[in-house]
Amino acid sequence: MNIPFVDLKSQYLSIKQEIDDAIFKVLNDTNFIGGQQIRDFESKFASLYGVKHVVGVANGTDAIYIALKMLGIGVGDEVITTASSWISTSETITQAGAKPVFVDIDPDTYTINPKLIEEKITKKTKAIIPVHLYGQMADILAIKNICDKYKLYLIEDCAQSHFSEENGTLAGRHGVVGTFSFYPGKNLGAYGDAGCIITDDDLLAEKCRMFANHGALKKHAHKIEGINSRLDTIQAAILNVKANYIINWTESRISNAAFYNATLKEVEELTLPKVRNNTKHTFHLYVIRTKERDALKEHLGVMGIQTAVHYPLALPNLEAYNYLGYAKSDFPIASKYQNEILSIPMYPEISKDQMEYVCNGIKSFFKKK
Ligand SMILES: *Cc1c(COP(=O)(O)O)cnc(C)c1O
Repeated sequence: MNIPFVDLKSQYLSIKQEIDDAIFKVLNDTNFIGGQQIRDFESKFASLYGVKHVVGVANGTDAIYIALKMLGIGVGDEVITTASSWISTSETITQAGAKPVFVDIDPDTYTINPKLIEEKITKKTKAIIPVHLYGQMADILAIKNICDKYKLYLIEDCAQSHFSEENGTLAGRHGVVGTFSFYPGKNLGAYGDAGCIITDDDLLAEKCRMFANHGALKKHAHKIEGINSRLDTIQAAILNVKANYIINWTESRISNAAFYNATLKEVEELTLPKVRNNTKHTFHLYVIRTKERDALKEHLGVMGIQTAVHYPLALPNLEAYNYLGYAKSDFPIASKYQNEILSIPMYPEISKDQMEYVCNGIKSFFKKK
């Protein structure tokens, strides 16, 4: 049996007619930039999130960059973030002109460890960007307390956590701003690059919208210099269709994770994902941990089971950050886990048979030894 890591095709086929119609309408209208589809998607997403403003942008990386810039963060500032994420989280801090300051992860949740944040705060610190990694909420209430105490902006990177919650509040609704990616493989994915910013702050929303559109809210009225980071109309049309299914797809991910938990719990050599109390983990990724990660990955590959590693190097260990002069021992948990984590197939459409096959593959690996 071949099990892909994600199966975008089966999801497309399940809503093919609606998607094709939505794309065809954009083609037929030849309205490729701006247009009703964008406003429709922004207001649909806003009502799903109970938020005042949704600003569609070109991708999730720009979403972070634009938020940082429009909060006035730049040269001479420092922004604290997690040691374990995709590079967008930290490269955008640099793009904005500021310095990324990494904090090691919590050993149970793989998200930024709030106990290690305060020692990294200096006079230059302006913001904290926690990432709700793999769909798991970072300890957002503890982080918010720190932000309140030191008057720092809280920017939530929600690229992996659409509809994750803590205490009934959605990821992205705890901070001043939440940033989302709709990269195809994300929980809510477009068929190309797309992203958005959410906020209740009227002025911030307007600034972000302006900056993302060459500094103009109206054509030729450039109040500032900006960038071109508009949400593509075809992508908005696709997201408009997919947004109607996202709640169901999210629930499927959660029940698939429960199946993996129940089936794999007997495997002593594995550490399964732990979910923090009072939170909803939406399982963008189902990440297991074992000292024999590479051999297990190989074994599953031979069986036709595709897996992935998120991420093979913690951010401070990337060549891009050599200039910061960190040692692996500065981030002991993230540096250890980068060699132990393995993401196994997880998507709403994966069947019980397929998950059974994955679990049997994992079990056969540990039995053989
Ligand atoms: C995917 C991702 C992003 C960036 O999203 P793009 O849409 O690919 O630019 C940012 N942060 C995290 C944690 C991500 O996983």
